[in-house]
Amino acid sequence: MSDLMHDSVFFSNELFKNVVKQIDESCLLAGIDPNVGDRLKRPKRALVVSIPVRMDDGSIHVFEGYRVQHNMTLGPGKGGIRYHQDVSLSEVAALATLMTMKCSLVGLPLGGAKGGVRVNPNLLSRAEKQAMTRRYTVEIANIIGPDRDIPASDVGTDGQTMSWLMDTFSQVRGYAIPGVVTGKPIEIGGSLGREESTGRGVVYCAEEAAKILKLPMNKQTTVAVHGFGKVGSIAAREIHALGTSVLAVSDVSGGIYSRAGLDIPEVLKWVQQHGVLKGFPNSEPITNEDLLELNVDILLPCAMENVIHKGNAERVKARLISEGANGPITHDAHAILSGRCFIVPDILANAGGVIVSYFEWVQDIQSFFWQEKEVNEKLKSVIVQAFNEVAGTSKRLNCDMRTAAMARAILRLEKAMLLRGLFP
Ligand code: NDP
Repeated sequence: MSDLMHDSVFFSNELFKNVVKQIDESCLLAGIDPNVGDRLKRPKRALVVSIPVRMDDGSIHVFEGYRVQHNMTLGPGKGGIRYHQDVSLSEVAALATLMTMKCSLVGLPLGGAKGGVRVNPNLLSRAEKQAMTRRYTVEIANIIGPDRDIPASDVGTDGQTMSWLMDTFSQVRGYAIPGVVTGKPIEIGGSLGREESTGRGVVYCAEEAAKILKLPMNKQTTVAVHGFGKVGSIAAREIHALGTSVLAVSDVSGGIYSRAGLDIPEVLKWVQQHGVLKGFPNSEPITNEDLLELNVDILLPCAMENVIHKGNAERVKARLISEGANGPITHDAHAILSGRCFIVPDILANAGGVIVSYFEWVQDIQSFFWQEKEVNEKLKSVIVQAFNEVAGTSKRLNCDMRTAAMARAILRLEKAMLLRGLFP
């Protein structure tokens, strides 16, 4: 890593540092042009915006928001918008970098971007959230659009947030532009299967990895799922549907555990009625920390980054981890775990979301919508093929799946960047 890199504003973030280390290792192993490697360690463009919002009590609060476009060699930027109190410019830059790698790895004609607002969305009323989303959209409107950069939902945002974003962008332009954003409800140009796509992909990858480990997907195989939001709840539902025993799931306030295995469809109904996992009948409470260290075969971290770190990695017992979240395992923890645990890296395991986001964008542009069966079949075929290609590279280069995935992603980018050349 060049010394100059330490001057970068982005380097203050742990996830950004981890991603840069991954890029360095993969570039070295795959013999990537050092100029390409260096370029990929910095985002193309980063925008910081102030978002003044009139709160319900009449006061004005100014929130800080970001949109980072990491690389657009392969096509328009693509990446979610996160509402979370810990969001920072450097975290968003790290997530944008991972998006570049993810889109490249699974062969999409898209670049990498990410956005965020530093706010705890649970403390906002619906009206405040709407006002904040609309003003944020206007502030970043100059750099987004169906042919420039296409946001989507992420932590703390959902189909409703994407609807407000799509509406605001369309109002400003004067006509409906559904292709500006993905993760929309079906009624305004969303794709069937998008909501479930990330969780499904996480489980398709776990199934493929289990075949390599000769781990059967049956009642004897135990699973823990960290995070029960858009990704974790679907991943839990899908892996439970395969016949495995899901012993524990959690949300931000803690988790629930059952030695006999949780009835996930019932847990989903409970959360719909009560809003939280807490109190689910016939279960014991478990902390998020203990859940990660449970004696299970498969762990699906589907909440936030850096939750498995050098302080707890030794105690993580799972044989297989499929990363639903972005960056849940730090670089140090990965080194501790990789000898004894098969890790499907984030840019592969959670790529289902961006794959179906790409399908949504294509459907919007063509104004021609597909059946859910077609969406799901195409998703499975793209992600399973990517998994097998990464597993092949990992064997050929004698490296772990994360390094192999990153190397494949960078190799595709390297070819495109060298063909396009340096402007001016
Ligand atoms: P959501 O906001 O829908 O869900 C996040 C879940 O994690 C919630 O259950 C939340 O609890 C829980 N959580 C938040 N903080 C913590 C914490 N510190 N400890 C334990 N649990 C916590 O987000 P998503 O499911 O969309 O995203 C989860 C991860 O997946 C993120 O890393 C995101 O970037 C990644 N991802 C998401 C994609 C998507 O399509 N949505 C695509 C690819 C990656 P509570 O509900 O109580 O707040």
